[in-house]
Amino acid sequence: MNAPERFDGNLYALFRQHFPADLAQPFIEMADGRVYDYAALETISGRYARLLQSLGAAQGERVLVQVEKSPEALFLYLAALRAGAIYVPLNTAYRAHELEHFIGDAEPKVVVCDPASAETIGKLAKRAVVLTLDAHGQGTLAERSASLDAAVEPAKKSADDVAAILYTSGTTGRSKGAMLTHWNLASNALTLHALWGFRPDDVLLHALPIFHTHGLFVATNCVLLNGTKMIFLPKYEAGTVTRLLKDSTVLMGVPTFYVRLLAEADFGAAQCKTMRLFIAGSAPLLEETFKEFARRTGHTILERYGMTEAGMITSNPLVGERIAGSVGPPLPGVEVRVADDKGTLLPQGEAGVLEIRGPNVFKGYWRMPDKTREEFRADGFFITGDVSRIDPNGYVAIVGRAKDLIISGGFNVYPKEIELQIDAIDGVAESAVIGLPHPDFGEGVAAVATLKPGAKVTEDAVIGRLKDDLANFKVPKRVFFVNDLPRNAMGKVQKNILRDTYKDTFNR
Ligand code: AMP
Repeated sequence: MNAPERFDGNLYALFRQHFPADLAQPFIEMADGRVYDYAALETISGRYARLLQSLGAAQGERVLVQVEKSPEALFLYLAALRAGAIYVPLNTAYRAHELEHFIGDAEPKVVVCDPASAETIGKLAKRAVVLTLDAHGQGTLAERSASLDAAVEPAKKSADDVAAILYTSGTTGRSKGAMLTHWNLASNALTLHALWGFRPDDVLLHALPIFHTHGLFVATNCVLLNGTKMIFLPKYEAGTVTRLLKDSTVLMGVPTFYVRLLAEADFGAAQCKTMRLFIAGSAPLLEETFKEFARRTGHTILERYGMTEAGMITSNPLVGERIAGSVGPPLPGVEVRVADDKGTLLPQGEAGVLEIRGPNVFKGYWRMPDKTREEFRADGFFITGDVSRIDPNGYVAIVGRAKDLIISGGFNVYPKEIELQIDAIDGVAESAVIGLPHPDFGEGVAAVATLKPGAKVTEDAVIGRLKDDLANFKVPKRVFFVNDLPRNAMGKVQKNILRDTYKDTFNR
């Protein structure tokens, strides 16, 4: 998709074209009754933008932000766009030694943080101005901007200028800053807004964190292009979400949201009467969750796939078949192909690494030109690192991360294939299959599983069952049972933690 005529290069200016004519229309409603209309969005983000510019955080300078979720935190994102700065949100879970890396790497002009961490961050960010913003929107950001003139025109940008840097979750090695341009974000939002059929009466229930692409860009940018309102929750809580669904039409969530909704005894079709669309992504949605959700509510969850470096890439359709275990065809304007690790294209239907090209694909890793070159093919395709298959109908299925691929005795083992078999065993809730150092095989296959309440499943039973259905080299040599699989804030199972916990299993 080429940048359309009406896109002047600044994402904020595009949003502005879609604001409701009457700015007194609500943008954010909080569960406690507070309402922020579009006029408040314009005023508060304008004041923040004026302050950022006065502190030197304009054209291409970074604004690093680690704050609790609040409407004001969202206005700060919009203020950075408006000021022409680069917005750099950080996961609130990061601690001092991690922050040191991000501050050193991003070299921000301004850092906005929670008052509780201002002292630590002040020591780490000696060259930046440190401002505070708490979960209630209070702090020096609000104080210092309160009397400033809010009439700030969006800074002049070209579509290719960087709007935000999002650090990858970095489960292996150093976390890298993905540079997303104004047009990366705008084109993706325009596509999703059209594809998911946003309507003038839509109300999005927002329960995701806003330091990650899902809650910050996918959810928020769609609402801003729609000029409608969202119900904004500080965090996900199944009971609150169940209660607020009756005032909403669209929910975007990680798979865990749906698992937890299903665990609510009273959750079902009655709460979903006004809902038109449930969307899931950021981690694989279990087939069982998809089916159980359909059984209880009559809604099929629309699963989509994306990543920090490219926003959204594929989506099951709004109209047409949504297939469990599939992430759907590529978005309009996005090309996908499957190749081996050398970049040779594989025949249709074979599993390999997914490569993608389109207006959504990022500009590169911040200050890592070599790393950037390594991850792109000469013809501009980005190597996602996700092992996948493209079915004859054009739907993409994600088999796992390339780095999670297990090579045991020279054979490739795709964890997802085994996880699906284990999950199908009566009494098993969920599983993660990993490769562990093994003296004979290089890597030995092991599984870590959780059980349904009250279920009794033994290691021997799992191994015995799998032997009936799988080649021997794929069958886990050990199966461990745990109460919960370790997950990050976006609901992804952290296999690196499991590999570390069980690393000596075969080497004792
Ligand atoms: P992040 O950059 O943190 O958003 O993580 C992106 C990664 O999450 C992708 O590369 C995939 O491995 C995974 N992912 C996202 N959505 C899905 C999905 N629907 N199914 C399976 N994996 C997914």
